[in-house]
Amino acid sequence: MIDNGERLRKLVLNSVRFSGLSRISRPFLGGMGAILTMHRVTAAPGTELGFNRHLSIDPAFLDLLIAEMKSDGFVFVSIDEAVDRIAAQASGERFATVTLDDGYRDNLLEALPVFEKHEVPFSVYIAPGLIEGTAELWWDLVEAVVTKRDRLTLNTPKGRVFIDCSTKAKKAYANCQISDYLTCDIGEEEQIEVVRDLAGSAGLDYAGLRQDLLMTWDEIRTIAHHPLCTIGAHTVHHYNLKRLPVEKALKEMSDSALVLELELGEVPKHFAYPYGYQAAVGAREAEIAKAAGFISALTTRHGMIHPEHAEHMHTLPRMSVNGRYQKIGYMSAMLSGATTAMANGGRKVVTV
Ligand SMILES: [Zn+2]
Repeated sequence: MIDNGERLRKLVLNSVRFSGLSRISRPFLGGMGAILTMHRVTAAPGTELGFNRHLSIDPAFLDLLIAEMKSDGFVFVSIDEAVDRIAAQASGERFATVTLDDGYRDNLLEALPVFEKHEVPFSVYIAPGLIEGTAELWWDLVEAVVTKRDRLTLNTPKGRVFIDCSTKAKKAYANCQISDYLTCDIGEEEQIEVVRDLAGSAGLDYAGLRQDLLMTWDEIRTIAHHPLCTIGAHTVHHYNLKRLPVEKALKEMSDSALVLELELGEVPKHFAYPYGYQAAVGAREAEIAKAAGFISALTTRHGMIHPEHAEHMHTLPRMSVNGRYQKIGYMSAMLSGATTAMANGGRKVVTV
């Protein structure tokens, strides 16, 4: 499905690519480097409707992107080194660091061989609740439910709501409707029961889906011990922290670090905010991440890294390697920094 937003963004990216704006922007807006965000890296995402297509890129595209960025002068570094470079406000060669959120199994099976081929360091951000089954990948689950059924029942406090999913367009609408309900209408802690109930009523094995998609602790230990890998924290339950009281938000961050230390034997130093957009991260969350002891915290706000970010280590923006925009030209346009200002009301240095 191509929505109007996607059409417009592609139009903007193409105008940046073909007008020469990226070449002109780069010295002024390109900054010190970029933190790339990824989720799934797989040649077979296995979803027919593609509602979560933005979260999945092909390993062949990753291979090509790394090669192109290297030939364009980017030096790939670990998140530790990225933080050191930002703190030092180092100029010179531009750096890139790769981050992957949520701990999908394809990170180990399909992305790692690409990182090994190019000797590219990367960091993976784990929410222990997703690994242990006290949280669900609700976005994948909702897509699976909507794909499978022609009609759904959602139990809400106001009663049962019947949702028509009989056509592709209605499935797309239902996917949005249910996602909005889960993320806006009910509390973060209520999400799991509602989504499991929905999956159960559609005859879907939610635990099986989660276990198919995500790494086990043993697999996380395997990838964590790889010399190219750093593990970061991503809360326990993948909650939107802005929707939680301060004590609960701090507990989510601190406890995720504790569980990761227990499982992996090392305290994670870096954090990525679940969702990471404006409605999920603000100045309060940045203060909490600092109080929880992390040396960096990453949002998903669209932006390149500039020397000024030395003062904003807990609101570092990232550049999404988005499955809907798998073209080198789109990525070069974004990495020139030209789109940062466009996406952020003219601002070059993006925080929250
Ligand atoms: Zn996440």
